[in-house]
Amino acid sequence: MGQDKSATGPAHYRCVGVGVGPANLSLASLLHELPDMPNLFLDRRAAFGWHDDQQIPGTTLQVSMFKDLVSLADPRSPFSFMAYLHEQGRVYHFLNAQFDEIPRREWRNYLAWASSRNPNVRFGEAVQEVDFQDGRFVVRTDRAEVTADNVVVGVGSRSWVPEPARPHLGPTQFHVNEFLTWARDLGGKRVVVVGGGQSGAEAVSNLISRSGAELPRRVSWISRRRNYFPIDDTPFTNDYYMPDYADHFYRLQQETRLKLNVEHILTSDGISGSTLREIYQRIYVHRFIDGRQDLIGLHPNREVTEVNRAPGGGWDLTVRHADEPGAADHFEADVVVWATGFKPAATQFLAPIAHRLERSGEELRVDEDYAVHWDGPADRSLFVQNAVRGQRGLADPNLSLNAWRSRRIADRLCGVRHDEQLPSFVEWSTKAAAVGQWEA
Ligand SMILES: Cc1cc2nc3c(=O)[nH]c(=O)nc-3n(C[C@H](O)[C@H](O)[C@H](O)COP(=O)(O)OP(=O)(O)OC[C@H]3O[C@@H](n4cnc5c(N)ncnc54)[C@H](O)[C@@H]3O)c2cc1C
Repeated sequence: MGQDKSATGPAHYRCVGVGVGPANLSLASLLHELPDMPNLFLDRRAAFGWHDDQQIPGTTLQVSMFKDLVSLADPRSPFSFMAYLHEQGRVYHFLNAQFDEIPRREWRNYLAWASSRNPNVRFGEAVQEVDFQDGRFVVRTDRAEVTADNVVVGVGSRSWVPEPARPHLGPTQFHVNEFLTWARDLGGKRVVVVGGGQSGAEAVSNLISRSGAELPRRVSWISRRRNYFPIDDTPFTNDYYMPDYADHFYRLQQETRLKLNVEHILTSDGISGSTLREIYQRIYVHRFIDGRQDLIGLHPNREVTEVNRAPGGGWDLTVRHADEPGAADHFEADVVVWATGFKPAATQFLAPIAHRLERSGEELRVDEDYAVHWDGPADRSLFVQNAVRGQRGLADPNLSLNAWRSRRIADRLCGVRHDEQLPSFVEWSTKAAAVGQWEA
């Protein structure tokens, strides 16, 4: 559905989305099917991308294929992963391939396909400012100005590295989200990977799987975690990634929510069992079959505290052991890969209305439909996707509740509320608390 043609001046929409990653693409897919819902989604990239510089060959999706853009909210949508396979004529091949986990690059291609068949999605246009004037949001981009009744911010995350790394970033010290650009020509070199989550594991796996002249001389893997811990992908844990738990979590007190996000981190940020097995088996082959005794160094429970240029060239990393604080180790490296995570992306473009938006710590404070509390009219809302982990839990940056969260927002825009799926087998809260606080 295109712009509101009756409007004079800039094009006016019921909803404008800022950013087209999986979060807003999910919403764009649901809105595409709705009548009377002029909407536009803008992304600053020239064309669709999904962590393209981290599409390391062999990497896979960490969630089920049912957790696509739409299926868990609208199984009949033409934007499902199944619809993609069907349209490409590869349904049977996909089945017969019997993937245990879907190749990440195939998922990226699916997302790109969904963006290309939606005329309300526009690339190559960066949103520079969101203002509110005369009862409408005014969205200024580097190419145009449009107005909207509602705005949905889905700008994702940006890479994060610890302080000691910041002055040195470049071709020999880089965040893992630039892996495909910089992690080339490492044959015979000393590489240190910092970070014990899935991205760090994928970098290590890729480096130690190289062959012949491409193989580094040494790959050291440093992690603050006590060991290389797996993601917990078992049934009751996965119930944390259901809508009723997300609502239960939202109703808890802030201190409890923060504590749970720390306690449950491995339910989302642990390493896939398949990646851990791959690495372990590779180490076995290098050590015991090919006789490469010291290709790989495993150093968990440690933190990099200093980074300096080494006298002989390369980098010198000072590394402290969590349980032996008196002693520091030194690692020499030609290249350092920082797989140290992501933080929510900056939203400077909200500056004109920032003083009108309520905050909860570092986050914008949202209601149960992901609309930010503000002093504007109740029928005009700014929504945020993937920016409120502290209020909504670890599922927020994840794909698991993507379609459901978009449904919540779409419902609010339409003034309806779809029925929810049945709640978890687990009763997360007392009945009194659930009813009482929801109504508060
Ligand atoms: C390598 C990798 C693999 C992952 N795999 C999984 C997985 O298997 N399962 C899972 O559940 N989660 C996974 N995640 C986590 C999560 O699903 C992804 O990070 C996901 O991309 C988040 O979607 P998003 O739409 O919020 O943000 P993004 O995908 O980052 O998209 C945000 C978009 O906003 C655009 N943008 C930013 N600012 C502006 C602006 N001012 N104007 C216009 N456009 C703007 C950007 O160009 C970008 O395209 C993975 C994350 C990474 C890094």
